[in-house]
Amino acid sequence: MASRFRTDVWIDWCPGCGDFGIVAAMQKAFAELNIEPEKLAVVSGIGCSGKTPHFIYANGVHTLHGRGIAFATGIKLANPELTVVVSGGDGDLLGIGVAHFVALGRRNLDITVILHNNQVYGLTKGQASPTLKKGDKPKSLPAPNIQDPVNPIALAVSSGYTFVARGYAMWVDHLKELIKAAIAHRGSALVEVLQPCVTYNDLYTGDYYKDRLYKLEEEPGWDPVVRSPAELDEKAARAIVKSMEWGERIPVGVFFVNPLAETYEERIAKRNPGFSITPPARQPISRNGGEPIISKEEFRKLFSDYIIIVRG
Ligand code: SF4
Repeated sequence: MASRFRTDVWIDWCPGCGDFGIVAAMQKAFAELNIEPEKLAVVSGIGCSGKTPHFIYANGVHTLHGRGIAFATGIKLANPELTVVVSGGDGDLLGIGVAHFVALGRRNLDITVILHNNQVYGLTKGQASPTLKKGDKPKSLPAPNIQDPVNPIALAVSSGYTFVARGYAMWVDHLKELIKAAIAHRGSALVEVLQPCVTYNDLYTGDYYKDRLYKLEEEPGWDPVVRSPAELDEKAARAIVKSMEWGERIPVGVFFVNPLAETYEERIAKRNPGFSITPPARQPISRNGGEPIISKEEFRKLFSDYIIIVRG
């Protein structure tokens, strides 16, 4: 039951915001995957999307601007048993946080990133975000945007993400299925979500998307899964080309899946076999009775460079 993942925190997003659909899809996906709340960590950065962990009954971390993926990386490496999901905006993840976004793809660490794409910085009154197209002028801008946009799907595929999809915030059940597939996938997964910002973006509204969106899974012959190394380049290129379709028709669905790549956890375990048996979260820090494993002398030796003695 999705209600299992609801909190009693007042949701202060603007009425009609697409973020409501994203949170509902996340809660439903977690429930249908039978994830235990204590085995789930939802991590966010800053922005309207940054509030997401407050509204989901699980471990949640509301971190710094653009740093959601960096925190999530630490959480997953410390405790690989956790399902780790990053929820961030286009400004947060593709502006200040873009280096972390690319690094996650290169590693193929088993984390799911849900990217709320509304083409503006909603929390700070609608400035152009990295996904706003050149020449676009939503009502929040005094003049048309003069920068070219980032394409999240193309960037994810070329960075090494092994599951790449796009959903729509108002198609909650379709989005839920994409999130479930992303979490079930082993490796770095991106779900870009087209999310109307009803307050600042009067270009990409529900009406705009209504007649344009179509589902890739209904496209004859569409098969995003890499089934042998020989298919990798062709399927990646096809996903990138498909992601550029933006006009009378806009695709949503799964663009690319590569189940053949090693995860970062597997690469680390090869170098350090102890990692998979006793990852950091499983390592004891005290003996029976609470006495720390490490002695005061060992602690001083280990951290001597960082100890500052303040004299009065
Ligand atoms: Fe949603 Fe936009 Fe309001 Fe933020 S400003 S809560 S993105 S409608």
